Amino acid sequence: MKRLRLAIAGLTACSGCQLSLLNCEAELPQLIEVVDFHYFPMACSPAVLEGEYDAALVEGCLSMPHENVLLLSLRKRSRLLIAIGTCAAWGGVAALRNGESRKELLQATHGSGRISSSGYSPQPLHAFVKVDAVISGCPPEKEELLRLLAGLLRGALPNPISYPVCTDCRMRENLCLLTEQSRLCLGALTLGGCGARCPSMGVGCEGCRGPVPEANLNEALDICQQKGYDRQTVIDRLRRFCPEWKS
Ligand code: SF4
Ligand code: SF4
Repeated sequence: MKRLRLAIAGLTACSGCQLSLLNCEAELPQLIEVVDFHYFPMACSPAVLEGEYDAALVEGCLSMPHENVLLLSLRKRSRLLIAIGTCAAWGGVAALRNGESRKELLQATHGSGRISSSGYSPQPLHAFVKVDAVISGCPPEKEELLRLLAGLLRGALPNPISYPVCTDCRMRENLCLLTEQSRLCLGALTLGGCGARCPSMGVGCEGCRGPVPEANLNEALDICQQKGYDRQTVIDRLRRFCPEWKS
């Protein structure tokens, strides 16, 4: 079998998505037999982009000019470019304050002296390059990353998840936090695949996996409103992981 040649890169992010891959400790010895992690600065040095890749897995959003240069190079060299994690897919927490003045944000974090920054408002990968697939999550589930690698080894991308967290929640036979306990939970609007990790522990879904396709925002907002949460509160919560949610 031809070894899969990968580039794995991190842009503006916490590195948690790459760490999820490194946490596949039981599977890594087998993976290394069939996958050449050629460019993976977080795990191997020296890391230099060279030649072409079967796929580039990119974590994080873009907020600095040098990240743009790296992303364009990865795109040019890779047959497939895959956004790994909610920051790469939607902007994530790094883009949380995109609606506010950058100057004021810099002053709040660095004081009122002269500040020089070439950074810009964090943007997801799809704002700059074609993205062939998304593995969302903050961070993605380890099993999803392994499924992705297994698919790439067969020359295919895994089928995307298209159901909400509520489906996972029902599969686990949880009582609904929102409808039965009037607690705010964003599961109906959020991409499933995490096994309803938070509601299963009695904590409302915070929407960390980003929007589920065909989310019925108005219906969900109506239900939240009936439970005592005003629409803007819910939208603001959703925007913590995906600023693209519109009110
Ligand atoms: S608790 Fe949350 S995720 Fe579970 S069914 Fe209710 S709204 Fe959906
Ligand atoms: S339940 Fe919601 S917040 Fe919790 S891990 Fe799943 S998608 Fe993220």
